[in-house]
Amino acid sequence: MRLTFERLSGGCNLHRCKLCGKVVTHIRNHYHVHFPGRFECPLCRATYTRSDNLRTHCKFKHPMFNPDTRKFENLMAAAAVNALSAAAAQQQLQQQQAAAAAQLQQSTAATTSQSGGGGGGTASD
Ligand SMILES: [Zn+2]
Ligand SMILES: [Zn+2]
Repeated sequence: MRLTFERLSGGCNLHRCKLCGKVVTHIRNHYHVHFPGRFECPLCRATYTRSDNLRTHCKFKHPMFNPDTRKFENLMAAAAVNALSAAAAQQQLQQQQAAAAAQLQQSTAATTSQSGGGGGGTASD
């Protein structure tokens, strides 16, 4: 899609359409002027010739995304996924901490056994 448009310098997200020379801000909207039969998944850029095919694609690939409203509809499910990954991350952190603690215990045990034999000199009159 990017090949169809040439980005203009000067910010403001201006693009010139290479097909008709028109300067547009929303290339996605203008793209459909030239390719009315193309339906592109905004999440993974998969293109379909029919909107229902894109809808089916989203249903399976991105179940939380509604291609009609272009919004994540199932926020509860999204939150659940986030909570799930947060729990997994916390579990991983706890495992790492446990491993670090075990390593620390091993190293302290090693140092005490090594330095245990040495006797300090006593300075007395
Ligand atoms: Zn154009
Ligand atoms: Zn997709």
